[in-house]
Amino acid sequence: MKKLVSLAAGVLLAGLPFAGSAFAQDYPTKPITVVVPFAAGGPTDTVARLVAEVMSQDLGQQVVVQNVGGAGGTLGAGQVATASNDGYTLLLHHIGMSTAPTLYRSLPYDPTADFEPVGLITAVPMTLVAKKDFEPNTLEELVAYVKANGENITYAHAGIGSASQLCGMLFMDALDTQMTTVPYQGSGPAMTDIIGGQIDFICDQTTNTTSQIQAGEVKAYAVTSPERLGNLPDLPTTAESGLELEIGVWHGLYAPAGTDAAIVERLEAALKTALANETVVSRFAELGTVPVSEEEATPEALAETLSSQIELWRGVIEEAGVYAD
Ligand code: ASP
Repeated sequence: MKKLVSLAAGVLLAGLPFAGSAFAQDYPTKPITVVVPFAAGGPTDTVARLVAEVMSQDLGQQVVVQNVGGAGGTLGAGQVATASNDGYTLLLHHIGMSTAPTLYRSLPYDPTADFEPVGLITAVPMTLVAKKDFEPNTLEELVAYVKANGENITYAHAGIGSASQLCGMLFMDALDTQMTTVPYQGSGPAMTDIIGGQIDFICDQTTNTTSQIQAGEVKAYAVTSPERLGNLPDLPTTAESGLELEIGVWHGLYAPAGTDAAIVERLEAALKTALANETVVSRFAELGTVPVSEEEATPEALAETLSSQIELWRGVIEEAGVYAD
């Protein structure tokens, strides 16, 4: 529907001096907002701010991160789905773009039809971490402890549709048990409560847990990547301890559907510049991740990942029978 509206607008504006490609050629002429659908200080926010800074330099305009947390990322995504498609409101989201259509049976937007993909950004492993004085010391002990104590354990997540909720769901499914889940607007504030000891446990991206693990502020059990990480070499993988839980949280940049192709191309170029930037690459490495390749920082690669991940997670979520509504 939005596409039809913008097509119609394009026809109407075709004879006007600032219409269509002339507008796109000048783009951007004012600051761009990138909506992060989680609270500030969390892992998606961290990725967004690193990338936005270099994109600002490349585009010659401020790229401002706006945090719109709530409902597992669906509030912020929904906001961008209905935003003007003039290139000045974008969305930086993660794997939740692909889980929400199954988790929410009445999702008010369509992740495929309502957005123009710009490119993939990075895939971040997750870590199982708990408050410092949580009783179990190893992943084997954690598994036994969770099985024995179930709902007496508090598990933080960033809402249904978030990566932490997905990881927790897979973890509980693997153990065939339930914990008490506590939703936040993002895992930044959840981490504050883990450090403060108000919450027991979370599974979250290394972009939010690395410095706390390194500083000994939380107890870490495992990383969900197939190999150990260079920045956390002592942390075993889930597979090493016999837990079948492998997950990488991929991030992508989107514009609202119907955004001019020349604008999407300009954004794609700026994204590629950001992902090749030395500071971004080294900061990503410190946080346990790497930027995607040039071929993956493209609309085609993001579109392909999004649709295949929607299919993948549909099966998993339907089998688990977990829904937000
Ligand atoms: N890591 C969070 C999640 O669980 C979101 C965030 O705050 O970036 O999806």
